[in-house]
Amino acid sequence: MSSSKQVQEESFNNLPVYFHNLKKKTNRYSITDLKTNVNNRFECCFVTLGHTMHVFLTMMLPVILVVSAPLRGNTLTTMFLALGIDSNNESLPLAYGFGICNDSRSWNWFLKRLRNCLSGVRDVAFICNISDVTASAISNVFPTSYIGYCCHNMFITLVGRCRDAINYEHLYWQTCKAYTMGEFEEKFVALQNAIPSQAHWLDSIGHEKWARSCLPNLRFNVLTAYTYIADSSSLIFMDAEDVPITSLLDAALSSLMIVYNQRRQYGDDFGDGLTPYANTNLQRRQNKAGRCRTKRIHDLTYEVTEQRNVFNLNYRTHICSCGKWRASGIPCRHVIATTKQKGKNIMDDFQLCYLSAVYRGFYGVDMVYPSLPPTDWEMPNEMIVVLPPTI
Ligand SMILES: [Zn+2]
Repeated sequence: MSSSKQVQEESFNNLPVYFHNLKKKTNRYSITDLKTNVNNRFECCFVTLGHTMHVFLTMMLPVILVVSAPLRGNTLTTMFLALGIDSNNESLPLAYGFGICNDSRSWNWFLKRLRNCLSGVRDVAFICNISDVTASAISNVFPTSYIGYCCHNMFITLVGRCRDAINYEHLYWQTCKAYTMGEFEEKFVALQNAIPSQAHWLDSIGHEKWARSCLPNLRFNVLTAYTYIADSSSLIFMDAEDVPITSLLDAALSSLMIVYNQRRQYGDDFGDGLTPYANTNLQRRQNKAGRCRTKRIHDLTYEVTEQRNVFNLNYRTHICSCGKWRASGIPCRHVIATTKQKGKNIMDDFQLCYLSAVYRGFYGVDMVYPSLPPTDWEMPNEMIVVLPPTI
């Protein structure tokens, strides 16, 4: 056996001790778990840093992107990832793991650990790839949760079914991004007519799975997991062939340390007010608010006229009939115009997570620490046997 192969195999034996030290010595409150077969051979593992999950539950949009990333090795083939989205529209790994198989059994196991971390706190929406085994595993583990599809992945699937669809990408995205049902229906019929062979397939998916005008509150404005996964690509960087699993876990931890440190410094540069992402959206919408005329209808409901169109907004439910306030948690131009007329503070109309103080609290609440070298490991009282997987 080559020495690198031997080191890789020994790293599976060391996993229980590695996790013991992660939880007890370096990143307290982290949660880890290991799945082995009846012969104690490794199948997959789960890791979440305790405070990351706490911050997600209290300060982030309740949307989780669930994706797998292929690894090139013969032994470990898959990285499992659950990503949250922070209020500056950047992804943050909430939980991750490595496994020997990207199948529904492994996903069921991984997602049940994730469910234990979310236990009973609030509803969470999930976004995954339409072609993945993850969708069925999510519906199995979170039967009452909303599950939507990544629009980017859906388009790739559509093109895979019909090459001609590539010529209608612009129309496809117009359909995805429509804010109102009327606009959506017009674009959707045009899309079906453009690609008649896929008309039934597009209809059968369920519009609420991908079209912004049909999204439930819980999905907010998240249309695609693609950019968020690209943000996390630094986690998926190495050729896993013959790389010890503890080195992969170290690399994931280092990547998270860099993310936390960068965003902590970045947050210190924010002024009071909103995150840059929310501020950019506010500026853009503010520029269009000047042409809106507002009339109070009743208590917290208003009617806003913009050219020949009339929109109804409700401050109690945070819904404007244009759809943008509900979809993004950021006030639309109709709300901006009305709040200004009322002489109120526009900051009160944002989801709390978009405040820069909340962002700073998020990344400043705790640190991520590197793992200890094996020479400094503390040995647990009870040892669990983990053998390398058979190939
Ligand atoms: Zn509006």
